[in-house]
Amino acid sequence: KAVLGRVDAVDKDVQAYITRTSEIALAQAQAVDSKIKRGEKVSVLAGIPGALKDNICTKGIKTTCASKILATFVPPYDATVAEKLAAEDAVILGKANMDEFAMGGSTENSGFFPTHNPWNLETVPGGSSGGSAAAVAAGEAIWALGSDTGGSIRQPAAYCGVVGLKPTYGRVSRYGLVAYASSLDQIGPITRDVTDSAHVMNIISGYDAKDSTSINAGVPDYTKSLVTNIKGLKIGLPKEYFVAGMDAEVERAINKAIEQLVALGAEYKEISMPHTEYALSAYYMIAPAEASSNLARYDGVSFGHRVEGNDIIDMYKKTRSEAFGAEVKRRIMLGTYALSSGYYDAYYLKALKVRTLVKQDFDKAFEQVDVLITPTAPTTAFKLGEKTNDPLAMYLQDVCTIPVNLSGVPAISIPCGFAAGMPIGMQIIGKPLGEETIIRAAYTFE
Ligand code: GLN
Repeated sequence: KAVLGRVDAVDKDVQAYITRTSEIALAQAQAVDSKIKRGEKVSVLAGIPGALKDNICTKGIKTTCASKILATFVPPYDATVAEKLAAEDAVILGKANMDEFAMGGSTENSGFFPTHNPWNLETVPGGSSGGSAAAVAAGEAIWALGSDTGGSIRQPAAYCGVVGLKPTYGRVSRYGLVAYASSLDQIGPITRDVTDSAHVMNIISGYDAKDSTSINAGVPDYTKSLVTNIKGLKIGLPKEYFVAGMDAEVERAINKAIEQLVALGAEYKEISMPHTEYALSAYYMIAPAEASSNLARYDGVSFGHRVEGNDIIDMYKKTRSEAFGAEVKRRIMLGTYALSSGYYDAYYLKALKVRTLVKQDFDKAFEQVDVLITPTAPTTAFKLGEKTNDPLAMYLQDVCTIPVNLSGVPAISIPCGFAAGMPIGMQIIGKPLGEETIIRAAYTFE
């Protein structure tokens, strides 16, 4: 009730939620209360209220992907993560706002309304999981789930001063996550601190036969990594991440954090990852290509919105023209072009080769160090509207997060100081299935 009260008080300003499920939440909480009164043992997340990004399917509850095309879509099934959380009696307060189909970095591409950063309502919360991050930062949820295809958990966590973890690709089931770019998408927690992140990870991780890319490996107890001992931990700073346009204050904050880690016994070295500069271009070819294919299913026939036409082609055209936003259309066109015959080898295949080179940079780096440390984003949160007319400037916010998705490795963003009153995020990147190590490194700062 306290958190619901908080949503009532601040969500008119923050606008983190698309759909609220207060009544269901209260009933869930009451059921947990009865269990406790009966003396039953309950899980660590029982009765703790959180939010799901609105691209995670919830049975009987609208799942819009912040798109007009799915404005009325009510899934007939739960995503695996939603099922797992329900089995632990977690309480769901609602569905969080996002950039339409997770395409964007500011939540301004939502087909409904933008979300505001609780630290300064005139700035963006980041994106695409901006609603999830803003909800946690504003106390409108104790935990939230986001999805991260190119930074969409970590960058909004950084902008909102909270903790965001993108697990190893395949660690958390994507079943029931509406696909944007399937080879990059991954669900993960956004929380106030690293401890909560470990608790949520314990619940949502694990093999799922319904996701063909799910990793069949046991799930460790991530709370065992909540220890303050980093003696001998080898940390690497990839010099290529300190790009032109990087805020000096952000760079200072990261260097200070590294000094602290070294003072606590970590071993530090600067390393080189020479293909970093090509990662952004490769991503903005691969992700739109996959998106153009994934979004072909929204044709006015099986899902959501339909505009009637003279014939079926006319109906497709009218439906998709009316209900997709500008950024989604831009990516469908870009992706369709890149995949079309005659251009496939020059663009899509080339981008896949670059992806392999980027991944090899990580393989080589992890022969030398246990974790990599970088800023999460080059700057702190920017003003609403500042980059909406300049897609390239918006894409540049993703330079530090995108290589991680291309490689499939895990990374966490934690708060690391402030610049002009706005939170700075630090990214700690780990080896494949190295979640325990990045949680341990991150916990040092808790
Ligand atoms: N900002 C990136 C994009 O627009 C990342 C989005 C994401 O991770 N879903 O594609």
